[in-house]
Amino acid sequence: MQVHKYDVVIVGAGGAGMRAAIESGQRARTAVLTKLYPTRSHTGAAQGGMCAALANVEEDNWEWHTFDTVKGGDYLVDQDAAEVMAKEAIDAVLDLEKMGLPFNRTPEGRIDQRRFGGHTRDHGKSPVRRACYAADRTGHMILQTLYQNCVKHNVEFYNEFYVLDLLLLDDDAAEGTGQKRVAGVVSYELATGEIHVFQAKSVVFASGGVGKVFKTTSNAHTLTGDGMGIAFRRGLPLEDMEFIQFHPTGLAGLGILLSEAARGEGAILRNSEGERFMERYAPTIKDLAPRDIVARSMANEVREGRGCGPNKDYVLLDLTHLEPAHIDAKLPDITEFARTYLGVEPYTEPVPVFPTCHYAMGGIPTNIKGEVLADNDTVVPGLYAAGEVACVSVHGSNRLGTNSLLDINVFGKRCGINAAEYAVGADFVELPENPATYTEDLLDVVRTGTGTERVAKIRADLQDTMDANMQVFRTESSIRQALDDIEALRERYRAISVQDKGKRFNLDLLEAVELGFLLDMAEVMTVSALHRKESRGGHYREDYPDRDDTNWMKHTMVYRDPDSEMEGVKGIRFDTKPVIFTRYEPMERKY
Ligand SMILES: Cc1cc2nc3c(=O)[nH]c(=O)nc-3n(C[C@H](O)[C@H](O)[C@H](O)COP(=O)(O)OP(=O)(O)OC[C@H]3O[C@@H](n4cnc5c(N)ncnc54)[C@H](O)[C@@H]3O)c2cc1C
Repeated sequence: MQVHKYDVVIVGAGGAGMRAAIESGQRARTAVLTKLYPTRSHTGAAQGGMCAALANVEEDNWEWHTFDTVKGGDYLVDQDAAEVMAKEAIDAVLDLEKMGLPFNRTPEGRIDQRRFGGHTRDHGKSPVRRACYAADRTGHMILQTLYQNCVKHNVEFYNEFYVLDLLLLDDDAAEGTGQKRVAGVVSYELATGEIHVFQAKSVVFASGGVGKVFKTTSNAHTLTGDGMGIAFRRGLPLEDMEFIQFHPTGLAGLGILLSEAARGEGAILRNSEGERFMERYAPTIKDLAPRDIVARSMANEVREGRGCGPNKDYVLLDLTHLEPAHIDAKLPDITEFARTYLGVEPYTEPVPVFPTCHYAMGGIPTNIKGEVLADNDTVVPGLYAAGEVACVSVHGSNRLGTNSLLDINVFGKRCGINAAEYAVGADFVELPENPATYTEDLLDVVRTGTGTERVAKIRADLQDTMDANMQVFRTESSIRQALDDIEALRERYRAISVQDKGKRFNLDLLEAVELGFLLDMAEVMTVSALHRKESRGGHYREDYPDRDDTNWMKHTMVYRDPDSEMEGVKGIRFDTKPVIFTRYEPMERKY
């Protein structure tokens, strides 16, 4: 076992992690631990854009952006956080511009902006051009730009280091209260199989999402919810885990994403009758309604028999009225996806699409400084989280497109500054006597298992039941079915064995560990979905089809607690956290 010592350790080298590292690296000794090479992080797959009310091409302001974010999130958004994000958006874009990001430009040389779902002029009057972009590879440009700037600031990267545990120790200063402080993290080096303990004064979790619990997903193979799982296993709460975003336009049958930028540039959704059906569901902004609404509308068209194709199980995204030159300039990558994966030519043929799992609105709860909460009010000194792993909550129950690339930049930066400043003024917390015991045991159990169950099979079965039962539409019985299946899979997981028993590049072993996180998170999501008996944003219960502000205008906080039982599942406890309101009263959500 090797021990390293840094002021700040950042877990994850996606947009949130590297934006934090740029700040932290200039203020304190900083290491970034990442299971992927930094430029392979999922941020690099982001397509459509990052929003900010720059008002470069038409009138706009940050207050409209805040309102859209709050309404888009179906009023479960913490409004103080949404205000911070919308205000700081402008600098976040300009920071990236100064770092060298090649945004698309207007003829006058300003950063160009385009439309995206739910972003409107003057509180919903019409769509507004708010998304800054670099063709349909905005995330790629952000990730490369941030990486170059990390290199410039001498940030130290530990690539292919899997963080598997968080070291939290009792805070002496808070004796008897059970309050915890951060001591560091424990990681596994893929190349050697060695355990490395990183002692740190502050730790920033920026480890991304959990979209691989579903089969049909836009998310990369590695998005297995490790960060959320680690925090949860160490007794920290997770917030709003029932809210999962389904992106309307995944390639049918595959889930590969076609950015909302397509509709931002004028593409239209049509059913088997050729009808532009979004005119019925969202008469004002139509195809540019928020994602939860568009995804449900599509699923409803299919249910009512107006789906397309031999099985009538998808709808069509029509770009054929757009000029090929415009498509090539603004949407080159995603149209190539349609050609490559479906053999469809978007210049002349509409593209088959259906909702795909895309984004976790929930995660590790933080305040607007990025400090992680151990409960509704108590921060864990030295622990921070940003990006998709975190829940600030700026997205409430449904995130607007382009608000995530924004979130990772705004709150990544805040976390980097705050984590470094905390570290400069704090002492190291002493490591426990055997800091790696928990991790070694976790790995040993998997490595030495002799059961007959296969990791890939359990993962596939998990993804199948999530796809079938935790979808755009949910009911008590579908969620129960998912939960029963997950409990059975957890049982089977105890009987796995891995074939590779070696030390070097043992991906077999790590996929088994990742499956453990996926199972934990799937359980948390389904129990949370059973618990919330209303429909709001991305969580739609057919048995409770209305939003219920009287009983459910509150965040879900779920804890691991051996003494508790919820919805028939042992070891889980729920609490709630009030939603923070500043200026917007909940209204009916019409578009
Ligand atoms: C296909 C696609 C298109 C998208 N398009 C847009 C868009 O146009 N606009 C928008 O706003 N949003 C978009 N999103 C959403 C947005 O890209 C993501 O939510 C955001 O980039 C997440 O950034 P992150 O830094 O939190 O995580 P990621 O970029 O996913 O990075 C996670 C990092 O954590 C590391 N990590 C994970 N687990 C561990 C572990 N156990 N140990 C060590 N390291 C670990 C990984 O190596 C990686 O470096 C899109 C998402 C997808 C999937």
